[in-house]
Amino acid sequence: MIYRHLGKAGLQVSALSIGSWVTFHTQSGVRDAMELMSAAYDTGVNFFDNAENYAAGQSEAVMGEALKKLGWRRGSYLVTTKFFWGLHDNVNEWNTLNRKYLIEAINGSLKRLDMDYVDIVYCHRPDPTTPIEETVWAMHNIIEWGKALYWGTSEWEAAQILEAIEIAERHHLHKPVVEQPVYNLLERHRFGPDYDAVYKDYKLGSTTWSPLASGLLTGKYNDGVPSDSRGALPGYEWLKELLTDESRLDKVRALAPIAEQMGATLAQFSIAWCLQNPSVSTVLTGASRVEQFHENMKALDFVDRFTPEVMAAIDAALDS
Ligand code: NDP
Repeated sequence: MIYRHLGKAGLQVSALSIGSWVTFHTQSGVRDAMELMSAAYDTGVNFFDNAENYAAGQSEAVMGEALKKLGWRRGSYLVTTKFFWGLHDNVNEWNTLNRKYLIEAINGSLKRLDMDYVDIVYCHRPDPTTPIEETVWAMHNIIEWGKALYWGTSEWEAAQILEAIEIAERHHLHKPVVEQPVYNLLERHRFGPDYDAVYKDYKLGSTTWSPLASGLLTGKYNDGVPSDSRGALPGYEWLKELLTDESRLDKVRALAPIAEQMGATLAQFSIAWCLQNPSVSTVLTGASRVEQFHENMKALDFVDRFTPEVMAAIDAALDS
């Protein structure tokens, strides 16, 4: 396994990591989660991503129970969670980053995970209705109380991240150390020029999500939606639309020969492409079964293979 610093933080994260969105509770129970997490841990993965709203809190419960049964030393792995949408459709408790919600949320997550602290807590989306200063103070307090060790943002605009850093610096509070953006061959905007000040100048860490665009970048949707795939799950009809979009499928088909020439599967090639970006600290991968995990981990063998010629071929395939 390769480890990378989480931006400027002292913390090192495995270059590939495991997330539980869609899978834990919905597709995988505690036993499956234990199998996947064991395979990951044995390979050197030290980062397990979660969120309050994944399976309405049940994903945290599954991960917490799996970790308890696995019995690993708490110092040897990292667990994260994220807040924004909330679990209760009620004023002050949903679509917010207000102080009251955030404090209630961390207490609820720690209870479900059955842990004393999480390693990183994220603001899952920006909340334009709460002053960033209020959110920064709440995240600072959560860290000061020992309920989380680091904090970050997810899908925030560059200007919002820089504002949070500036507020924290002005008040000598804990600063965000990481952003969690979508990043894959089909969605590259979160590392566009707007973010140069965040990643290239400030050197914030990044834990990127959906490297396979939910499985699209494996090629498995090229001829329709497999019945045992995420695209066939009830409640994910919105995702099925993206997974069956012909213009996206054309790009996937155009990328396939480049992966083949590299000797990689399309999944390995797509994950390795994320990692060739030095601003990426870890690529959060998802797997509904352990065989997928084993295939995806081999992406590490291809990270150094993205020559200028390969990058040009990728640009041409994506422009086609
Ligand atoms: P991917 O884009 O890698 O999609 C993972 C899914 O693709 C798997 O569950 C599986 O679905 C399929 N798959 C994976 N590998 C293979 C393979 N080798 N062959 C065939 N199919 C494969 O990642 P996710 O979208 O799951 O995102 C990863 C993590 O990022 C999440 O778990 C979560 O922790 C985080 N995330 C964060 C978000 C945020 O807003 N901050 C948003 C979304 C995710 P199946 O078998 O069911 O088809």
